[in-house]
Amino acid sequence: MPGPKITFLGGVREIGGNKIVIEDGPDRVLFDFGPSFSPQYEQFYVNFLAPRSTSPVKDLLEFDLLPRLEGLYSETALYKSDLAYRPPEVHAVFVSHAHFDHAGHLNLIDPRIPVHVNAGTKRILEAIESSGTAGYGEHDWRVFGPTDTVRVGRIEVRPLPVDHSIPSASGYLIRTSEGTIVYTGDFRAHGPRAQDTLEFLAAAGAEKPDALIIEGTRAGPDPRRNFTEQGVREGVDDLLESEKRLAIVSCYPRDVDRLTTLYRAAREAERDLVISTKTAHLLSTLAPLLPEGAPVPGRSEGLSVYKRTKKVYYKWEREFLDDSVDEEFVRRQGRRLLLQLDLPHFAELIDIRPEAGSPYIHSMSEPFSEDDVDDQVLHNWIDHFGLAFHQFHASGHCSGPELHAVGEEMRPATILPIHTEHPEAFRSDRSRVVLVEKGTPIELRP
Ligand SMILES: [Zn+2]
Repeated sequence: MPGPKITFLGGVREIGGNKIVIEDGPDRVLFDFGPSFSPQYEQFYVNFLAPRSTSPVKDLLEFDLLPRLEGLYSETALYKSDLAYRPPEVHAVFVSHAHFDHAGHLNLIDPRIPVHVNAGTKRILEAIESSGTAGYGEHDWRVFGPTDTVRVGRIEVRPLPVDHSIPSASGYLIRTSEGTIVYTGDFRAHGPRAQDTLEFLAAAGAEKPDALIIEGTRAGPDPRRNFTEQGVREGVDDLLESEKRLAIVSCYPRDVDRLTTLYRAAREAERDLVISTKTAHLLSTLAPLLPEGAPVPGRSEGLSVYKRTKKVYYKWEREFLDDSVDEEFVRRQGRRLLLQLDLPHFAELIDIRPEAGSPYIHSMSEPFSEDDVDDQVLHNWIDHFGLAFHQFHASGHCSGPELHAVGEEMRPATILPIHTEHPEAFRSDRSRVVLVEKGTPIELRP
């Protein structure tokens, strides 16, 4: 019987889109299943140009954006495609975290294949689904606890928490019949759960792994500033300390750590944080799992929900409307508020009319390229209203030097960089670095 092997069906020379198949004899496990952010996916599908919901697999296979893997997709998703339906040949799927590039294609998977997630990731996926942003499909969901190990035939999977820019992210120790594989998922060690990452890496090192599958989002050239979450907090504190006008902030919708940082900074400056209904819905859904001091609608002091001008409010929004604030309130009380306003909702500025010179905090990644259209539009609005632009962001990912240190300390036999446009930036004196090719299996013990 051939030994265990690893095949990368996505996430190769691209950021996101990890699709990792680990096989040991007859047993097959898939880790993560989402579209990539760049560059392949966006060459064909962008904004409102999306695969058709009736024939998603067909439309993605057309551009080689999905693997031609039999025994994985549901019969419905395969409609009109030339790939035949086969009963499940993948025996379990594990999702490292709820970001779209890791979970966004789950809806294509055969509902008979068990999908393993932790309780937090399950809740985030539910919150995203119930607020209408994406659908993940019907599945045989299996929720693992913090100390659980999951066995799939010969493969034993031990999830451990890691720090990332979304709650409840996991890394994995995967024990096969011939050795251990470590998969980091997406991770960092400069956020509020840095300790989780350190413990994961220590546990991984103790296994003396044969292979380390490591994400490299920030490997290679990275001109962006390197804040920690605490650094973001200090920046926002300094800004708000002497500010007498409305402050506006944009951040990633699922970055609960950032929302917590912003909430605490607002309270310190004797301001209320005003959040969108979508953020309120996410925080309410996650409330039982959130740490002390995180903002929870209806429970936390100094937290309110902004009611945008709309003709119809969704059912999930309505529970927040009774206690909400509107543009009139924000205009009058601006100096007492930090308003979360994301780019798609910038038209609210036309009603709010912030005073010229009011601070706008961009608490997200700096644009990846010079000709980023969204970034141009954002700056057009900022300039039109005469707002003062400030950038404070801590990445969800380790920097290049941190990634290098992880490999050198863990000393796996082999390093397999993925989720990066620059796998060649990984070098090691102690481990063999393999630049993986999409679809070419790698033997665990060659
Ligand atoms: Zn992520």
